[in-house]
Amino acid sequence: MLVKKLPGNFASVEVKVVDCPNLTEEPFRLTTPGLGGSPTLIEIGGNAFMMPLADLTKIYNVKEIIEKSLDGADSNLYAIGAGAGPFPSIGKNSEGIYNVKISKQGDIENRSYISKVEGPNEECEVGRVKPCENKLGILGNLFACQGIEGKVLKVHCKKRIGGLNFIESIRLALTEHFGSKAVGLGGIFLLKQGAAKQHVMRDFPKKPINSEAELNKWLAFYEMPAVLNAVGTLVTQEMDVDLRLQHFHSFSDKWAGHYHYDTTPDIVEYEGYFNIGEKVVRVDKPKNTHQLGRD
Ligand code: ZN
Repeated sequence: MLVKKLPGNFASVEVKVVDCPNLTEEPFRLTTPGLGGSPTLIEIGGNAFMMPLADLTKIYNVKEIIEKSLDGADSNLYAIGAGAGPFPSIGKNSEGIYNVKISKQGDIENRSYISKVEGPNEECEVGRVKPCENKLGILGNLFACQGIEGKVLKVHCKKRIGGLNFIESIRLALTEHFGSKAVGLGGIFLLKQGAAKQHVMRDFPKKPINSEAELNKWLAFYEMPAVLNAVGTLVTQEMDVDLRLQHFHSFSDKWAGHYHYDTTPDIVEYEGYFNIGEKVVRVDKPKNTHQLGRD
Protein backbone atom coordinates (compact mmCIF):
# COMPACT_ATOMS: atom_id res chain seq x y z
CA MET A 1 0.00 0.00 0.00
CA LEU A 2 3.01 2.28 0.44
CA VAL A 3 3.80 1.63 -3.22
CA LYS A 4 0.33 2.88 -4.08
CA LYS A 5 0.19 5.91 -1.77
CA LEU A 6 3.70 7.35 -1.78
CA PRO A 7 3.73 8.33 -5.48
CA GLY A 8 1.22 11.05 -4.50
CA ASN A 9 4.08 12.69 -2.64
CA PHE A 10 7.25 11.58 -4.45
CA ALA A 11 8.04 11.25 -8.15
CA SER A 12 10.19 8.15 -7.60
CA VAL A 13 9.22 5.50 -5.05
CA GLU A 14 10.71 2.09 -4.28
CA VAL A 15 9.41 0.00 -1.36
CA LYS A 16 10.89 -3.43 -0.66
CA VAL A 17 11.44 -5.92 2.12
CA VAL A 18 15.21 -6.43 2.19
CA ASP A 19 17.96 -7.87 4.37
CA CYS A 20 18.99 -5.12 6.75
CA PRO A 21 22.30 -3.55 5.79
CA ASN A 22 24.87 -3.52 8.60
CA LEU A 23 23.89 -0.28 10.33
CA THR A 24 27.17 -0.04 12.23
CA GLU A 25 28.93 0.67 8.93
CA GLU A 26 29.11 3.78 6.79
CA PRO A 27 26.98 5.61 5.95
CA PHE A 28 24.66 4.68 8.84
CA ARG A 29 27.01 4.97 11.83
CA LEU A 30 24.75 3.37 14.43
CA THR A 31 25.68 1.13 17.36
CA THR A 32 23.11 -1.46 16.30
CA PRO A 33 23.87 -3.81 13.40
CA GLY A 34 20.18 -4.45 12.67
CA LEU A 35 16.63 -3.62 13.75
CA GLY A 36 15.42 -7.08 14.72
CA GLY A 37 14.85 -9.03 17.93
CA SER A 38 11.98 -7.88 20.18
CA PRO A 39 11.48 -4.60 18.28
CA THR A 40 9.87 -2.19 20.74
CA LEU A 41 8.70 1.40 20.59
CA ILE A 42 9.37 3.28 23.83
CA GLU A 43 7.91 6.69 24.60
CA ILE A 44 9.27 8.49 27.66
CA GLY A 45 7.73 11.60 29.26
CA GLY A 46 6.52 14.14 26.74
CA ASN A 47 6.29 17.71 25.55
CA ALA A 48 4.00 18.45 28.49
CA PHE A 49 7.15 18.27 30.66
CA MET A 50 9.04 20.72 28.41
CA MET A 51 6.38 23.42 28.20
CA PRO A 52 4.74 25.72 29.23
CA LEU A 53 7.79 25.48 31.53
CA ALA A 54 10.26 22.60 31.83
CA ASP A 55 9.92 20.17 34.72
CA LEU A 56 13.56 19.63 35.65
CA THR A 57 12.72 16.70 37.91
CA LYS A 58 12.16 14.65 34.75
CA ILE A 59 15.48 12.83 34.44
CA TYR A 60 15.22 9.26 33.21
CA ASN A 61 17.64 6.35 33.36
CA VAL A 62 17.70 5.31 29.72
CA LYS A 63 19.68 2.11 30.40
CA GLU A 64 17.16 0.89 32.95
CA ILE A 65 14.23 1.78 30.68
CA ILE A 66 15.70 -0.14 27.72
CA GLU A 67 16.53 -3.16 29.90
CA LYS A 68 13.06 -3.25 31.46
CA SER A 69 11.35 -2.72 28.10
CA LEU A 70 13.15 -5.71 26.57
CA ASP A 71 12.93 -7.78 29.72
CA GLY A 72 14.02 -11.37 29.12
CA ALA A 73 16.11 -10.66 26.03
CA ASP A 74 19.40 -12.46 26.67
CA SER A 75 21.63 -10.48 24.31
CA ASN A 76 23.04 -7.05 23.64
CA LEU A 77 20.31 -4.40 23.53
CA TYR A 78 20.17 -1.31 21.35
CA ALA A 79 18.06 1.83 21.15
CA ILE A 80 17.93 4.65 18.62
CA GLY A 81 15.66 7.65 18.45
CA ALA A 82 14.73 11.23 19.20
CA GLY A 83 14.50 13.05 22.50
CA ALA A 84 15.84 15.83 24.61
CA GLY A 85 19.46 15.52 25.68
CA PRO A 86 20.71 14.55 29.15
CA PHE A 87 20.60 18.12 30.54
CA PRO A 88 22.20 17.36 33.95
CA SER A 89 25.39 16.28 32.10
CA ILE A 90 25.28 18.79 29.24
CA GLY A 91 24.50 21.72 31.54
CA LYS A 92 21.60 22.96 29.45
CA ASN A 93 18.75 21.85 27.25
CA SER A 94 19.67 20.14 23.96
CA GLU A 95 18.40 17.85 21.24
CA GLY A 96 19.25 14.22 21.81
CA ILE A 97 19.90 11.88 18.88
CA TYR A 98 19.96 8.57 20.70
CA ASN A 99 22.26 5.74 19.63
CA VAL A 100 22.81 3.41 22.56
CA LYS A 101 24.15 -0.09 23.12
CA ILE A 102 23.83 -2.08 26.32
CA SER A 103 26.02 -5.17 26.36
CA LYS A 104 24.77 -8.53 27.53
CA GLN A 105 26.82 -7.93 30.68
CA GLY A 106 24.86 -4.72 31.35
CA ASP A 107 27.46 -2.11 30.32
CA ILE A 108 26.21 0.93 28.46
CA GLU A 109 28.01 2.27 25.39
CA ASN A 110 26.28 5.53 24.59
CA ARG A 111 27.19 6.95 21.18
CA SER A 112 24.36 9.47 21.08
CA TYR A 113 24.74 12.90 19.55
CA ILE A 114 23.42 16.12 21.03
CA SER A 115 22.94 19.52 19.46
CA LYS A 116 22.50 22.85 21.18
CA VAL A 117 22.29 26.54 20.39
CA GLU A 118 25.55 28.29 21.26
CA GLY A 119 27.23 31.70 21.06
CA PRO A 120 26.17 35.23 20.11
CA ASN A 121 25.26 34.09 16.60
CA GLU A 122 23.18 31.23 17.94
CA GLU A 123 24.99 28.55 16.02
CA CYS A 124 24.02 24.90 16.06
CA GLU A 125 26.73 23.01 17.91
CA VAL A 126 26.92 19.23 17.62
CA GLY A 127 28.46 17.15 20.37
CA ARG A 128 28.58 13.63 21.75
CA VAL A 129 27.55 12.40 25.15
CA LYS A 130 29.96 10.49 27.40
CA PRO A 131 30.09 6.78 26.50
CA CYS A 132 28.84 5.92 30.02
CA GLU A 133 25.97 8.44 29.93
CA ASN A 134 22.74 6.83 31.16
CA LYS A 135 20.43 9.83 31.46
CA LEU A 136 17.71 11.17 29.17
CA GLY A 137 15.93 14.44 29.98
CA ILE A 138 12.22 15.31 29.77
CA LEU A 139 11.08 13.33 26.68
CA GLY A 140 12.08 10.66 24.21
CA ASN A 141 10.86 8.34 21.47
CA LEU A 142 13.10 5.31 21.12
CA PHE A 143 13.13 2.18 18.99
CA ALA A 144 14.78 -0.62 20.95
CA CYS A 145 15.74 -4.12 19.80
CA GLN A 146 18.39 -6.84 20.07
CA GLY A 147 20.19 -5.60 16.98
CA ILE A 148 19.54 -8.69 14.91
CA GLU A 149 20.04 -8.27 11.16
CA GLY A 150 16.88 -9.63 9.56
CA LYS A 151 14.33 -8.44 7.09
CA VAL A 152 13.45 -4.74 7.16
CA LEU A 153 11.27 -2.41 5.16
CA LYS A 154 13.28 -0.28 2.75
CA VAL A 155 11.63 2.91 1.50
CA HIS A 156 13.54 4.86 -1.15
CA CYS A 157 11.99 8.07 -2.49
CA LYS A 158 13.25 10.83 -4.77
CA LYS A 159 11.91 14.23 -5.80
CA ARG A 160 9.08 15.41 -3.56
CA ILE A 161 5.99 16.52 -5.46
CA GLY A 162 3.54 16.71 -2.53
CA GLY A 163 3.31 18.65 0.71
CA LEU A 164 4.05 15.85 3.18
CA ASN A 165 7.41 15.15 4.74
CA PHE A 166 8.97 11.68 4.30
CA ILE A 167 7.71 10.28 7.60
CA GLU A 168 4.23 11.83 7.33
CA SER A 169 3.79 10.30 3.89
CA ILE A 170 4.57 6.82 5.27
CA ARG A 171 2.54 7.32 8.45
CA LEU A 172 -0.56 8.64 6.71
CA ALA A 173 -0.47 5.85 4.12
CA LEU A 174 -0.32 3.28 6.95
CA THR A 175 -3.11 5.06 8.87
CA GLU A 176 -5.34 5.05 5.83
CA HIS A 177 -4.74 1.36 5.22
CA PHE A 178 -4.90 0.04 8.79
CA GLY A 179 -7.60 2.39 10.15
CA SER A 180 -8.01 2.17 13.92
CA LYS A 181 -5.50 -0.70 14.17
CA ALA A 182 -2.25 0.82 15.45
CA VAL A 183 0.97 0.21 13.53
CA GLY A 184 4.33 1.54 14.69
CA LEU A 185 7.70 1.63 12.95
CA GLY A 186 11.18 2.60 14.01
CA GLY A 187 14.50 2.85 12.29
CA ILE A 188 16.76 5.10 10.31
CA PHE A 189 16.47 7.15 7.15
CA LEU A 190 19.13 9.03 5.25
CA LEU A 191 18.43 12.33 3.62
CA LYS A 192 20.97 11.71 0.86
CA GLN A 193 20.50 14.78 -1.32
CA GLY A 194 19.22 18.27 -0.55
CA ALA A 195 18.64 19.89 2.81
CA ALA A 196 16.12 19.81 5.65
CA LYS A 197 14.51 22.35 7.91
CA GLN A 198 15.33 21.22 11.42
CA HIS A 199 15.07 22.80 14.83
CA VAL A 200 17.27 22.84 17.88
CA MET A 201 15.70 23.74 21.21
CA ARG A 202 17.23 26.74 22.94
CA ASP A 203 17.87 26.42 26.67
CA PHE A 204 14.80 25.75 28.81
CA PRO A 205 12.01 28.31 28.40
CA LYS A 206 12.28 31.24 30.78
CA LYS A 207 8.74 32.40 30.06
CA PRO A 208 5.84 29.96 29.73
CA ILE A 209 5.19 28.70 26.19
CA ASN A 210 1.46 28.44 25.55
CA SER A 211 1.06 28.70 21.78
CA GLU A 212 2.64 27.45 18.55
CA ALA A 213 3.79 31.05 17.90
CA GLU A 214 5.61 31.23 21.24
CA LEU A 215 7.03 27.78 20.62
CA ASN A 216 8.38 28.71 17.18
CA LYS A 217 10.04 31.78 18.69
CA TRP A 218 11.77 29.64 21.28
CA LEU A 219 13.03 27.02 18.82
CA ALA A 220 16.06 27.82 16.65
CA PHE A 221 15.49 26.72 13.05
CA TYR A 222 18.25 25.82 10.61
CA GLU A 223 18.47 24.56 7.06
CA MET A 224 20.78 21.57 7.46
CA PRO A 225 22.46 20.04 4.39
CA ALA A 226 22.61 16.35 3.40
CA VAL A 227 23.78 13.82 4.24
CA LEU A 228 21.67 13.60 7.41
CA ASN A 229 21.06 10.34 9.30
CA ALA A 230 17.66 10.44 11.04
CA VAL A 231 16.54 8.02 13.76
CA GLY A 232 13.20 7.71 15.50
CA THR A 233 9.71 6.27 15.53
CA LEU A 234 6.29 6.69 13.99
CA VAL A 235 2.95 5.25 15.05
CA THR A 236 -0.48 5.54 13.46
CA GLN A 237 -2.53 5.95 16.67
CA GLU A 238 -2.06 7.52 20.10
CA MET A 239 -3.41 4.23 21.56
CA ASP A 240 -4.96 6.09 24.54
CA VAL A 241 -1.50 6.55 26.05
CA ASP A 242 -0.77 9.92 24.46
CA LEU A 243 1.79 8.62 21.96
CA ARG A 244 3.61 11.09 19.79
CA LEU A 245 2.76 10.07 16.22
CA GLN A 246 6.19 10.75 14.76
CA HIS A 247 9.54 11.92 16.01
CA PHE A 248 12.85 11.77 14.13
CA HIS A 249 16.14 13.50 14.92
CA SER A 250 19.05 13.49 12.53
CA PHE A 251 22.81 13.92 12.75
CA SER A 252 25.92 14.49 10.71
CA ASP A 253 29.36 15.66 11.84
CA LYS A 254 28.36 19.31 11.63
CA TRP A 255 24.59 19.39 12.06
CA ALA A 256 21.97 17.72 14.22
CA GLY A 257 18.39 18.46 15.16
CA HIS A 258 14.68 17.67 14.93
CA TYR A 259 13.52 16.82 11.39
CA HIS A 260 10.58 18.85 10.03
CA TYR A 261 10.78 18.60 6.22
CA ASP A 262 13.16 18.93 3.31
CA THR A 263 13.57 22.36 1.73
CA THR A 264 14.78 20.99 -1.63
CA PRO A 265 11.86 19.04 -3.11
CA ASP A 266 13.35 18.81 -6.64
CA ILE A 267 16.58 17.12 -5.65
CA VAL A 268 15.67 15.45 -2.37
CA GLU A 269 16.43 11.77 -1.93
CA TYR A 270 15.42 9.66 1.07
CA GLU A 271 16.48 6.09 1.85
CA GLY A 272 14.93 4.55 4.95
CA TYR A 273 15.15 1.19 6.75
CA PHE A 274 12.41 0.41 9.25
CA ASN A 275 11.12 -2.44 11.35
CA ILE A 276 7.67 -2.92 12.85
CA GLY A 277 7.35 -2.59 16.61
CA GLU A 278 5.91 -5.67 18.32
CA LYS A 279 4.98 -3.66 21.39
CA VAL A 280 4.87 -0.17 22.82
CA VAL A 281 6.20 0.76 26.25
CA ARG A 282 4.90 4.02 27.69
CA VAL A 283 7.04 5.51 30.47
CA ASP A 284 5.79 8.34 32.70
CA LYS A 285 2.87 9.52 30.57
CA PRO A 286 2.09 13.14 31.48
CA LYS A 287 -1.23 13.51 33.32
CA ASN A 288 -1.98 16.85 31.74
CA THR A 289 -1.03 16.75 28.12
CA HIS A 290 -1.28 19.19 25.19
CA GLN A 291 -0.71 19.10 21.44
CA LEU A 292 1.98 21.81 21.23
CA GLY A 293 5.04 21.01 19.13
CA ARG A 294 4.18 17.53 17.97
CA ASP A 295 5.16 17.98 14.32
ZN1 ZN B 1 12.39 16.44 18.61
